[in-house]
Amino acid sequence: MTVPRRSKTQIAISTCRRFLGTRSWTRPKTMKGKSMYNSKAYSAASATSPLASTTIPRRDPTEHDVQIEIVFCGICHSDLHQVRNQWSGVMPTVYPCVPGHEIIGRVTRVGSAVSRFKPGDLAAVGCLVDSDRTCPECRAGLEQFCPNFTLTYNFPDKHLGGVTFGGYSDSVVVDQRFVLRVPSNLNLAGAAPLLCAGITTYSPMRHWGVTKGKKVGIVGLGGLGHMGVKFAHALGANVVVFTTSPGKKDDALRLGADEVVISRNANEMEKHVSSFDFILDAVAADHDIGAYINLLRRDGNITLVGAPENPLAVSAFGLIFGRRSLSGSPIGGIPETQEMLDFCGQHNITADVEVIPIQKVNEAYERLVKADVKYRFSIDMASLKSE
Ligand SMILES: [Zn+2]
Ligand SMILES: [Zn+2]
Repeated sequence: MTVPRRSKTQIAISTCRRFLGTRSWTRPKTMKGKSMYNSKAYSAASATSPLASTTIPRRDPTEHDVQIEIVFCGICHSDLHQVRNQWSGVMPTVYPCVPGHEIIGRVTRVGSAVSRFKPGDLAAVGCLVDSDRTCPECRAGLEQFCPNFTLTYNFPDKHLGGVTFGGYSDSVVVDQRFVLRVPSNLNLAGAAPLLCAGITTYSPMRHWGVTKGKKVGIVGLGGLGHMGVKFAHALGANVVVFTTSPGKKDDALRLGADEVVISRNANEMEKHVSSFDFILDAVAADHDIGAYINLLRRDGNITLVGAPENPLAVSAFGLIFGRRSLSGSPIGGIPETQEMLDFCGQHNITADVEVIPIQKVNEAYERLVKADVKYRFSIDMASLKSE
């Protein structure tokens, strides 16, 4: 049997398809005659144009809806991929595109059937704004696996038609079931990235039983990795950070690591063979995953949350001897996202952020490509008022 060679684009598509499942994507139509209002936003008009000030329609809250004035919105690498249409094979970008799925704000209006929120409450919205609510995944509170979910931006909008618009905006309207409560002690700028980077790293740690006394590795100290260190430390684990940059050592220790290993140093790696209960791999570039599989103890697991463009080479022997496992994990369901936010409230965990005005968003994207941020950008949406 011959296996056809796949192009780089096909590989990138199949990576995204793993997250999106088998959903078919069709260009939606705009509905007429809906009750709506205008919201200020920043949008991209094409894959090559910078984000710029615009006005977008939002639906007036229906009975189950919560209207939120957005205070901060984190910048996720997915925003950049979507704005530049880098996932064109599986989820082509519809322009204008308003990204943003790390949303923190205050409730301004609620529908008549809303019981969980009232005007003035803090509220948050992550990557999901709806799902079918009836499938086995939804009934299990695992909406991230629902075959009919609605993503926060660039996904068919069931209410207004067109596509959903994300959080680079002064307001958003979301069904209360997908709105999260925010502990009042958290710094709001730093809390925004919890809605994607936070839950993406928290969920697999809970799933794979990271608790006190477990030895946990974090590979890569970026937006995701730095959250992984904070969560593993707060869960009571012995945390080892793997990095290729000796310059990140002090920061890793400050964030909660017990030890830092320079992954290019074979001697340092050798000392940790067969010792880890769990490793979170947050590297999106090509790397030798086998080197980390060898560091797992019996029944240890390594979970991928970064998505390298090319397939990773995995030796079957590395998994067989030691009954080790390799898995992946996307965001988290709504109940677990709330659990994560409450956990952050108890342990006072937020992301390390650089706060920027929306007018600097294009500059921030350029810096994101160079990984020039510690460790996440958070947009102060008050800056949108002057547009
Ligand atoms: Zn994200
Ligand atoms: Zn469902």
